[in-house]
Formats: sequence, structure tokens, C-alpha cells
Amino acid sequence: MNARRRNVTRRRFIKETIAGAAVVAGTPAVWSGVKAASQSPGAKLPWYRRAYLWGQTNITEKDPVRYDIDWWRGYWKRTQVQAVIINAGGIVAYYPSKFPLHHRAEFLGDRDLFGELTKAAHADGIFVMARMDSNRTAEDFFKAHPDWFARDASGQPYRAADKYVTCINSPYYDKYLPDVLREIIERSHPDGFTDNSWAGLGRESICYCENCTARFKAKAGKALPRKADWNDQAYRDWIMWSYARRVDVWELNNRTTRAAGGPECIWSGMNSGSVTAQARSFRDLKEICARADIMMLDHQRRDDDTGFQQNGDTGKRVHTLLGWDKLAPESMALYQSGPGYYRVASKPAAEARMWMIAGIAGGIQPWWHHVAAYHEDRRMYSTAEPVMRWWKANEQYLVNRTPIANVGVVWSQRNTDFFGRDAAAEVVDAPYTGFMHALVRARIPYLPIHADDIDRGAAGMKVLILPNVGALSDAQAAAIRRFVQRGGSLFATGATGLYTEWGDARPDFVLSDLFGCHLAGQAVTPRATGARGGGTDPIGAFAPSPSGHTYLRLIPELRSRVDGPHIKDEPPASGTRHQVLRGFEETDLLPFGGSLTALRVEATALVPLTFVPPFPTYPPETSWMRQPTSDIPGLVLSEHGASRVAYLPADIDRRYAREHLPDHARLIANIVRWVANETVPLAVEGTGFIDCHLYEQPGRTILHVVNLTSEATWRAPIDELIRVGPFKVTMPVPAKQTKPRARLLVSGAAPTVSVTGGNASFEIASILDHELVVLE
Ligand SMILES: [Zn+2]
Repeated sequence: MNARRRNVTRRRFIKETIAGAAVVAGTPAVWSGVKAASQSPGAKLPWYRRAYLWGQTNITEKDPVRYDIDWWRGYWKRTQVQAVIINAGGIVAYYPSKFPLHHRAEFLGDRDLFGELTKAAHADGIFVMARMDSNRTAEDFFKAHPDWFARDASGQPYRAADKYVTCINSPYYDKYLPDVLREIIERSHPDGFTDNSWAGLGRESICYCENCTARFKAKAGKALPRKADWNDQAYRDWIMWSYARRVDVWELNNRTTRAAGGPECIWSGMNSGSVTAQARSFRDLKEICARADIMMLDHQRRDDDTGFQQNGDTGKRVHTLLGWDKLAPESMALYQSGPGYYRVASKPAAEARMWMIAGIAGGIQPWWHHVAAYHEDRRMYSTAEPVMRWWKANEQYLVNRTPIANVGVVWSQRNTDFFGRDAAAEVVDAPYTGFMHALVRARIPYLPIHADDIDRGAAGMKVLILPNVGALSDAQAAAIRRFVQRGGSLFATGATGLYTEWGDARPDFVLSDLFGCHLAGQAVTPRATGARGGGTDPIGAFAPSPSGHTYLRLIPELRSRVDGPHIKDEPPASGTRHQVLRGFEETDLLPFGGSLTALRVEATALVPLTFVPPFPTYPPETSWMRQPTSDIPGLVLSEHGASRVAYLPADIDRRYAREHLPDHARLIANIVRWVANETVPLAVEGTGFIDCHLYEQPGRTILHVVNLTSEATWRAPIDELIRVGPFKVTMPVPAKQTKPRARLLVSGAAPTVSVTGGNASFEIASILDHELVVLE
């Protein structure tokens, strides 16, 4: 087999090249990774810091008899991938494993498909991550090692379809999987490993196997919780113990693969872009990012609630934890992955393309993903190539950059766990998402900031947004206070700080002094469950339970009416409205849809919005306000030296996520601009729904503009892009520059730049899918 011999020789050369000795600037590069490295000071960077473009053909059990390796090598080349993910083992093995219970793919026979593909990739100068899928087995394995499997309270094994779920505290993870990893390294020498379901049984199932029982007892000094009960300390301890075990597994796997395959043979399990999904599977994003050499995101598509912009948000969230120098490739489905799930049908090209572009804008590296090695719908093979080609041509502007934003949106996984509990989608995700949408709509750059990173991560920021962050520890509250003492401003909503880190109610807001108001009247009870229209929380604004037909009244009550009928008991016009109510001059009410409770407001605070209690919607004859005014605050504004604080008890953030009323987005944007005291570093004027991401590199500023305007903006999939523009952009002049030039790296235009103060202004004539502006 001459070809194979050649491949081995080539591979040896590559290995030597990786070691650095053979890398000389100007040497013709044999592969793109070396080329990139030889041209930059990062020549000695490990491979996982240089592999920008990724591909994955998720191999089905049928593929060993139909995998056309030559065709896929051509596809790797066309899409310019620098790393591929190849199925190795776990549930299904794609090589003849020496472990008899390691289930071989049904059509594998004695073939070593994983080994052949790894060799081919290496021969083409492409790195290989071996893909594992280690969480369940067939029945024969269960019968051979019944003590390695998860058990319910009655001792029955947990099943997933016809498979048996392995226990993460068993020797399956401590001994068997490390042996499999070593076997794969010895046979085929992949560059690293990933695993798409490495974290074991999720939060919804407590394992009562002998391993778990003994280990939990040893650690916590108590028995496993009998059921999920967020108020039971044993359950809370079990949650934290379960998180810690996943971190242990992460570290064990890395020790194993590095010991067997060398220091760069990393193991990096896959993670979701959703914090709630991470919480349900005990994958602590912050702890994992502290350990990950590269973040492998299994986050393949948008949903209608969160849009493409959620992928930009994910990139920023991960990089603020991981650092902006590390890479975060993301699996991007090229099959129709929702709504409707069709593994071998092409995703509409515009839909797949925009998901990729939205992620790239947030610092994510593209990774095409096909399921199966053979497709009769061949349209999917044309989607990734142009995106990858564009990425490669503009590589220098897409990595090693730092974001410019002075607004941070605070989040924490403990808040998702212990405040969100079983209703995190409603009480945590929806408020965050409402802010995300409103900030994108207002073209205000922002960064997600972890609640434990406020001192470091928000150091240069002007504003912290706390979207219904119910669970705040005393230490987190102290960090927020320090932020305000340094001159920072706050915009908090709903139940922010009304609970401890365990989700236990506090008697008052932990930040009540900053909010300028206190809880008054009814006691706090545990948050409501997610049922819309239900809920037991008397502080309805903090529960996902709009009481129905309610409003917020803009005060001072009324300016002189120039239009519309007058009514007899109309209060007299007086004063002017606060600037957070700009744009609402022709209305005295905003739709709300939630409920509020009494607050005691300090004399120095302002209340520009008050609550209008519910009244009927039906029949229409009854639809009149029984109580047109109240003294229940809808918004409390206060100033503390240079700091401004807005506390919005009304759940306008969640309402915007659910109902998309432009009034709610405008109110949120107005409040952000007021607390920021007009310091937002970017202004973009022009019609269209666009997502803006601002970065800097030495001597240049970089702006991504992602066009989210489409014939199906909120509903996947889109099939047709709609051109928008023109836009007038004002953004910071790069440091030490006075007359910067602007280049548009999608359209190729070079618009005229005018400089005023530290800001540069120019026009983008039009945008189809996206634009990348480099100002230098
Ligand atoms: Zn167990």
C-alpha cells in the first residue's frame, strides 16, 4: 500500500513540524495549520490554538460499507478545514477494539474506519479529534457489569431506548473509558478527544447505585436525597456533588489522554450554548472553561425564541470565561435540525449560513456537521464552503481580538440552578433573552458577565444589567456594590437579589440600598413554577405568571393633550416626563401583562411608572379600568454619586422575550442609555434588524454587523436573505490613530470616514447577510 506508506511518512513530517523545529518563515507550507503558524508570532502555539476551521461527518453504523474517503478528503480541502472530528468509540466503536463488549458498528466487520480516516486526515495535514459518545451500552455489557449502571430508587437500571445508562460514579468512567482512550491513542494517535455526551445521567434522575450511595455518604456525610426537593439541603448538596464529579471526569480524561498521547493530546467534552441545558446535565460552564484548552460547542441551531443572535451571545459568554485567545469551534448542523428534524435533508442554505455568521461575529469558529457519510440530498455540500473561504481570507480579524462594550449582562449557573429550579426557562432564561433582544435591537454592544467575575470582568464597564438574577450570594452582592462605588451603574429587574445563593428568600433585596426601595407588605414565598397564568408568588412580577390585563402608567400623569378626547376626572397635566420615557409622548400607558406588589421607596428615588391593576378583556363591554391609578411602583430610579441605578420590578424583560412588543424594547433601551449616561460606544442609524459586535486589535477597531432581517426573522428556517441599508455608523477611532481608513471586508467597499472627537463616522451602503468593518 504505497499510498499508506506515503501517508505515514507525511504524517511523521507533520509531527516533526508541529514540534516546531521545521517551521521556518517563508518555507512552503505543507498544510494550512503550519502556514498560519509560520506567519505569526504564535508559531509555537499548540495545535488546538491554531485549528480554526472544523468539520465533522457523524458516522452512522451503515457508513463503514459506503464511506467514500476520497470524496470526503476533497470536501475537507474545499472547505479548508484544519481539524476534523471522527467517531472512534463509546456507544459504538468504529475500529476493532480489543474490548469484547465495546460494540462495533453493525456494518464495520473487521474494518478500522476510524484509523483509516485518521490517517487520511493526517496525511492531508488535518488534525483529528476522536469523537467519543460514552454514556450507555447494550444489554450484554449491562449483564457483564451490572454494578456499573445507574439505578433508580427501586434498584431498576435507568434505560434509554434499548440501551442501559452507565453511572458516572462507576468504574465505567474511572477504569473502562480510560482504557478505551488509551487503546485509541496507541492504535491511531489522534490529536485529541471530544465526547458529545460525557456528563452521565442528567439532573432529572437521581442514581441510587452502590457507587453513588457510598461516594455521596463519604463526601456529604448523609444519604442520597429521596427525591428532588430544592428546599432539602441533601438535594442541594447532591446537585453540587454532581457538578464536582463532572469536573473530576474532565480532569481524569485529560490526565489519561495526555499521559498516553503527549501534552497536546487533550480531551475536551462538548458543551451546550444554553446555561439551562448545562445545568440540567451538571456541566458547569465556568468551571469547565477554567480547565478547557478549547471549547467544543455542541450548539447546532437557533430556535424561534432566541434567534440567530443567541449564537453571538454564546460566543461572547464562552469567551468571557475562556479568554479571547482560546478557540471555541461550534458544531453547526447542515441537516434540517429544527423545527422538524430531518437528519439527511439539507438545511436551507440561508438558515445554516446565518447561524454560522452569527456565531462568527461572537467569536465562534465554524464547524460543519453532517450526519452520515452518504446523502441523496447533496445541496448540503455547498453551504459551508463559501463561509469557510470568507473566514480563511479574513482570519486575522476574527481571532485574537478583545470586545469593546461597556454594558455587561450578569448571569450565573447557580442562579439557573437554585433560583431557576424547575422553571429556569421562565424565570432565568426569558428575562436574559428579553435583554439580549432589546440590546441587539438598540445596537448596544454588551457582554455576558458571570456573577463571580464582576471585579475582573466588569472592570472597564459602565453598566451592569441584572435580569431577574434572583439568587445572589453576599459575596456577589458585595462585588456589585464595589462596582457601583467605582462609578458603575446598575439596571436590575424583578427578583434580583431577593434570594440567597441556595434560593432561600431574603427579607428584602440584598441591594435595596442601591435600588432605592424595599420590599413592603407581603412576605416573599418561593417562586412560582413555570405555568403561565398560574403561580403562587404574591410578588407576581417575579413569577412567570402575568395576572393578565395590566398596564404601566407613565407619570407625571399627563402632559397637555393635543389629540384625543378629554375625560372629566383626568388629572391635571404637570411637569415633564423622565428621559427614560422618551418616545412615548403620545401615550400615557404601556402594556404590561404582569403583576406587582407594594414597595417602600426612599424619598430620593423617582418613580416614573406605576402599576394599573388588572381589568377584564372580555366581553369588551367590561374592558374599562376599575382602578386607573395606584401607588405601586413600576420603575424606581436613583442616583448615587456618579452611578445611576434603575430597578424595574415589572418583568418587562421577560414580557419582551415572550411578546416582542416594541414598547418594551424601547423602554429597556431607554433605561440602559440613561444608566450608561450616554456612553454607549457605538451608534448605528438605518432601518433593519441587525446584530452589532465591536472589537479591537492593536491599531484597529472591528465591527461585525449581522443582518437578522429576513422573510422569516423570528421563525426558522429562513430561505431568502433581504438586503438592508444604508447605515450610518459611529464607532471608536483605534488608539493612537487620527485619520483611520475603513474597509468593508464583505462588500469590498472603502467608505469615506469623518472623525469627530474620538469617534469615526462612515456609511455602509447595504448589507445582505453581514458586513465586517475594519477601521485602522
Ligand atoms: Zn450511580
